[in-house]
Amino acid sequence: MNQDKKDTCPRCGASFHCGIAGPGPCACTQVKLDTRPLRAMMSLYPSCLCPDCLRAIAAGAPVEAPARG
Ligand SMILES: [Zn+2]
Repeated sequence: MNQDKKDTCPRCGASFHCGIAGPGPCACTQVKLDTRPLRAMMSLYPSCLCPDCLRAIAAGAPVEAPARG
């Protein structure tokens, strides 16, 4: 049985831990996104993204997941 609640990043599918569900700070409080990508992210995804995706978006990567294949 799993005791930890793990979140799955809706953008890349990676498992990560969101601080909202635990004692640690959430990654989304550590990565500052501009209003525009932040709003796009919130409209596209129902939950937080993993720290890697947040950093990538903050660095200018597209909010939508890159096409596969
Ligand atoms: Zn991700």
